[in-house]
Amino acid sequence: MSHSRIAFIGAGNMAASLIGGLRAQGLPADAIRASDPGAEQRARIAAEHGIQVFESNAEAIQGADVVVLAVKPQVMKTVCQALAPNLSGNPLIVSIAAGITCASLENWLGAPRPIVRCMPNTPALLREGVSGLYANGEVSAAQKTLAEQLLSAVGLALWLEEEALIDAVTAVSGSGPAYFFLLIEAMTAAGEKLGLPRDTAARLTLQTALGAARMAVASDVDAAELRRRVTSPAGTTEAAIKTFQAGGFEALVQQALDAAAKRSAELA
Ligand code: NAD
Repeated sequence: MSHSRIAFIGAGNMAASLIGGLRAQGLPADAIRASDPGAEQRARIAAEHGIQVFESNAEAIQGADVVVLAVKPQVMKTVCQALAPNLSGNPLIVSIAAGITCASLENWLGAPRPIVRCMPNTPALLREGVSGLYANGEVSAAQKTLAEQLLSAVGLALWLEEEALIDAVTAVSGSGPAYFFLLIEAMTAAGEKLGLPRDTAARLTLQTALGAARMAVASDVDAAELRRRVTSPAGTTEAAIKTFQAGGFEALVQQALDAAAKRSAELA
């Protein structure tokens, strides 16, 4: 990564997170370029990260080893078709756009290209993200390493063997932060109903979520075992867990993720 030149097409939230992560890892500012039609976005990203910015996408990709497509899915076709004649030297194309397949990208870029498709999630903003990555058959081992280093700058990067699994990644981690937010909302409201001041209920819930996640990440046993260890027979935790299970909690989670994966496949 240290000698690679990276061009970002689109300088919005996700591009800013990735650039911030790369800079924090020591990638020099002059190795990174970004283009965006928005003057405000260009000014902000140049001021924050000291990188070169362009209004023209074609200019930004000159000499790039990696081109990161960080625009919204709706404009991806137009962006790719305009980039195609300006791509030289067969750079790695990394797309972070939800629902855009490698086949569509190849089609719009006009030739077989090394493409890595990623599904990141919003905690990337805090470098606590997780991404599922899929590489098409044109991607070399060195380019796979580059893509992994790029996404690792904002969190964990995990490879997928099949492109279709991106829908499952979308269901688990892409949309996942919102499920935890929902649980946080519900626990806070329940705590308040039990008599706690709202702010106290919220802080108890948030710190419990953070503590539980940190414990689970640090542990060498799985979440089910951690749960068993804190659930004494006839105790308070067991009373709550039994209530969740009687209400079909696990089945409901499965249904929710099935619905998200189905929607992701429909959008592709
Ligand atoms: P964003 O709106 O913040 O950024 C997109 C940027 O693209 C904007 O600054 C816009 O001005 C620019 N743009 C528009 N047309 C352009 C063009 N023709 N050429 C170059 N730039 C152009 O959006 P975001 O949240 O950063 O999302 C970017 C992509 O990342 C999307 O495809 C989205 O699906 C994907 N993604 C985002 C998240 C997330 O959590 N934000 C998670 C997963 C995937």
